[in-house]
Amino acid sequence: IFITFEGGEGAGKTTVLQTVKNRLEKEGKKVFTTREPGGSVIAEKIREVILDPSHTEMDPRTEALLYAAARRQHLVEKVIPYLEQGYIILCDRFIDSSLVYQGDARGIGIEEVLAINLFATEGLLPQLTLYFDIDPEEGLKRIQANSDREVNRLDQEKLDFHVNVRKAYQSLAKKEANRIKTVDASPTIEDVVENVWAQLKETIEK
Ligand code: C5P
Ligand code: MG
Repeated sequence: IFITFEGGEGAGKTTVLQTVKNRLEKEGKKVFTTREPGGSVIAEKIREVILDPSHTEMDPRTEALLYAAARRQHLVEKVIPYLEQGYIILCDRFIDSSLVYQGDARGIGIEEVLAINLFATEGLLPQLTLYFDIDPEEGLKRIQANSDREVNRLDQEKLDFHVNVRKAYQSLAKKEANRIKTVDASPTIEDVVENVWAQLKETIEK
């Protein structure tokens, strides 16, 4: 089962993902956790190129192609093999991040970004996507409070960029309501974990 975690900065995706992974493993499930961009040697190198704060001249289409290339490599090396071995895959970001960040917030257009991503993934989509919805001001506050977080090029974006990201996720979640479930990410991590757990269980036991 392929499950992805989506949302803006500081929504708590990474933390919640680790917690539910541990719970699933306690139940004896085989779980593989990974992230995008990255998750394999080549894809992590592409991640470094994309997110390097000094790469301010990065063209949006170049960026979109690099994300799609990293996605392709990660999919072929990790996602597909683990799926074939019966793992539950929990992936921190996937195709929807590109539709939202490159397609909408960077202004390339969702349809065009979808097209290069369908090329990259040959149409493979997650069974379930959990969208962590958070007020960007709250999310950015959480990030500033978290000193472990790596510096990245997106840190240079202003609040309205993140407001656009939220709007784009919300409209995508509406359009893809069968696959994308919205999780209110504003309560405590414990509460968010319970909500995510309930949604995961429903999908896994189906
Ligand atoms: O989720 P994580 O914080 O690791 O993502 C790294 C950065 O890359 C974030 O700032 C995120 O907004 C950005 N990103 C992006 N487009 C994507 C995926 C991630 O701009 N398709
Ligand atoms: Mg994260």
